[in-house]
Amino acid sequence: MSVGNHSATRRGAAGLRLVLLGAPASGKGTQGQKLAQSLGIPKVSTGDMLRAARDAGSELGKLADGIMAAGKLVPDDLVIRLVDDRLAQADATRGFILDGFPRTLPQARALDELLERHGASLNVALCIDLPRELLMERATLRRTDVRTGQIYHLKYNPPPDSAQLVHRDDDKEETVRKRLDAYDTMTAPLLPYYQAKNILCHVDGIGSPDEVSARIDRVVQQFNGAGNSFAASNGPATSGNASGKDASTEGGADGA
Ligand code: AMP
Repeated sequence: MSVGNHSATRRGAAGLRLVLLGAPASGKGTQGQKLAQSLGIPKVSTGDMLRAARDAGSELGKLADGIMAAGKLVPDDLVIRLVDDRLAQADATRGFILDGFPRTLPQARALDELLERHGASLNVALCIDLPRELLMERATLRRTDVRTGQIYHLKYNPPPDSAQLVHRDDDKEETVRKRLDAYDTMTAPLLPYYQAKNILCHVDGIGSPDEVSARIDRVVQQFNGAGNSFAASNGPATSGNASGKDASTEGGADGA
């Protein structure tokens, strides 16, 4: 089931401002891309923007390069400025999916403030949950096709023979460990932050990309576009929630 098949969802999601949370390799990039395509809104990934800056050899890119390679976080003010500029672009006025931002509480507060300046606020903070051992496996077996940007997994989502694959330096085992530690320390505190705003949803990240995507679609279908929170929508109670109640059991632990 895809969101694109549901005209009500498309209508309701116009103006959807969604933050994707989840540890590195939880599937944010893949799922954000699918969702952005089906909803016709941009996916904004600070990781992608920083990699593009690095590849372009800009000052920001040079600074970010070493930090990213070490599995650390780029300073808040730099990524906040990137996001501020990106969300000011015309295509983001109809909504957006943020992938990899915010990653710290100061970033989350800055995002709220910049949206407030535009008279807007976030609708959903959607966290993809996955146990640490699976995160490790996913990251270390993740490959990207340099030509298309498509993300593959050597075991669960194997690439076609024609793909030109790269293994991100920061997906190597030691760095992944540091990134997961950084997530636990710096990013996990965002969960209670968004729960207090009543916009937090959890989705079980175990399973194939299509299985996880179907769970996310059910959550997004609850968004009625009418207000800041979709907690009051009439969506099925089993499709995830914005009340902090864990929706992960609904998706089924279908194994990977
Ligand atoms: P990602 O592709 O989202 O996993 O990001 C790759 C790397 O870029 C991270 O490990 C950080 O070094 C850096 N990065 C991406 N987004 C942020 C952010 N919001 N705050 C700080 N650093 C970031």
